Amino acid sequence: MTIDGNTILAESLKKQGVEYVFGIVGIPVIETALAFQSAGLKYIGMRNEQAACYAAQAAGYLTGKPGVCLAVSGPGLLHCIGGMANAQVNCWPLLVIAGSCPEDHEGIGGFQEWPQVESSRLYCKYAARPPSPRLIPQHVEKAVRLAAAGRPGVSYLDMPGTLLMAEVEEEKVPLEYYSAAPVELAHAAPAQVWRAAELLRAARRPLLVLGKGAAYARAELQLTQLVNDTKLPFLPTPMGKGVVSDESEYCVSTARTQALLKADVIVLLGARLNWMLHFGQPPRFAPDVKVIQVDINPEEFHNSVKSEVAVHSDIKPFVEALAQNLSKSKFSLDPATNEWWQSLKQKQKANTEFVEAQAANTSVPLNYYAVFKTVQQNIPKDSIIVSEGANTMDIGRGLLLNNKPRHRLDAGTFGTMGVGPGFAVAAAMWCRDYAPGKRVICVEGDSAFGFSGMEIETMFRYKLPVIIVIVNNNGIYNGFNKEMMADIQSSGDVAQCTPPTALSGEVRYEKMMEMFGETGHLCRTVEDIKAALKKALEETEKPSIINILIDPQSSRKPQTFNWLTESKL
Ligand code: ADP
Ligand code: MG
Repeated sequence: MTIDGNTILAESLKKQGVEYVFGIVGIPVIETALAFQSAGLKYIGMRNEQAACYAAQAAGYLTGKPGVCLAVSGPGLLHCIGGMANAQVNCWPLLVIAGSCPEDHEGIGGFQEWPQVESSRLYCKYAARPPSPRLIPQHVEKAVRLAAAGRPGVSYLDMPGTLLMAEVEEEKVPLEYYSAAPVELAHAAPAQVWRAAELLRAARRPLLVLGKGAAYARAELQLTQLVNDTKLPFLPTPMGKGVVSDESEYCVSTARTQALLKADVIVLLGARLNWMLHFGQPPRFAPDVKVIQVDINPEEFHNSVKSEVAVHSDIKPFVEALAQNLSKSKFSLDPATNEWWQSLKQKQKANTEFVEAQAANTSVPLNYYAVFKTVQQNIPKDSIIVSEGANTMDIGRGLLLNNKPRHRLDAGTFGTMGVGPGFAVAAAMWCRDYAPGKRVICVEGDSAFGFSGMEIETMFRYKLPVIIVIVNNNGIYNGFNKEMMADIQSSGDVAQCTPPTALSGEVRYEKMMEMFGETGHLCRTVEDIKAALKKALEETEKPSIINILIDPQSSRKPQTFNWLTESKL
């Protein structure tokens, strides 16, 4: 009996626990996708490799096992590169597999010939071409292991057409190749836990920062318990939202700037002191702040600022050990009397009042705050929120709450636009398999939606009831209303006078639903949004598009600091 490369690859992925494959087929991977399905993998065909790559990494983040992205050779693989970089920067597990030109056509101008392993290397922890069919199981094991182990990231396997089609004697192929048991979680050294606890006990203004590493570590129960027992104020990063509920009374997101600036001891749990946390430096942090840094990846320690205590540990066992230590000394703050808590609460109150006042202004055209408040009030509280766009994502983050971990997927550390529809496809697949009835709400800026909007067809084909909410302001950051745009464009050469941030006015994105014989929702008022969401929530087997036309000049509340701190040069 012989077996071909496609089947060996499919069986090897199955053996390593892979569940989902997202991709686009063509020469030489059509039979590959068929072999995947025969082996019991789920294959979701998408409309652009980049979106498929985003979907695969979201599946990886949600399940803890790398999702696979399957692409054709040359341009197919190159379209995946943006997705690979996004996964690598986000520390999400992903395995990209691409067909490549037959080996006997290499070097003489083969069809879609490209140095694919070399091209991928910069975006990967591991990139290789199995040298023979017999070695495919070994490379798949290694690719999956490297993507998921330690700090998660990306693996790439290059599969020439000749390798996929090669027939070999079945008994010569180690199909039962081992799948390594999950490694024991790395525990913190007891002395480090003790030092961390000592620092916290001595702190006057302690703060917990919960990152997406804590979400990936599935430390939600331990962290919720720690927060409830100690009453320490906590601040989630964007995708750390929901590890401990945004609705917890100890969440200080509404006093974020103040909390970061004034804290004297910060416990950094699965987050990096990169641009998203303003590098941990003044003017956004106190110059003498002491950082207790907990990370699975020791290379991250002391990045940008020196940590007082650097704990090499998985988040879960560290938090358990810390909680145990703190409970022995009955450590707990009293928010009613504690000075730090009092100052945070004051700030929270002022900020909340500002936002409430904005949201209460429901005059048409609507502003962002009124839109997000309405969305928040009219969706199930346990929905997965996918979000991208500039203002849409930034303002929405404060108003769209998460009370479950790994329920927010956004542009992330790399700030990538175009991720939304791909993430939403993966999240909706995950809901169908693991949380039936749970909804995915994909909140997109109009510009962001344009990058991958065609994935609406994928959502229809796979019967995924994603609710796409487009917050449409006719542009990037801000746009112009139709009359202003007409004036501007009539003032000179169209390519010289059209503002780079402008998009066409009042584009009817909801009409994409008509391509499938369905009707979308166009909204201008709060009542329109409520009615549209109600209808969309009744759909259980198809997506909806809710296109909300807002004031093109609506913007964010004035910030104390510029979004990115000034250059240090
Ligand atoms: P955020 O965007 O929320 O700030 P980052 O992506 O910057 O989060 O940081 C996540 C950090 O979490 C990374 O440094 C990564 O190494 C770390 N990490 C990932 N998984 C775990 C885990 N299981 N235990 C501890 N740290 C983890
Ligand atoms: Mg816009």
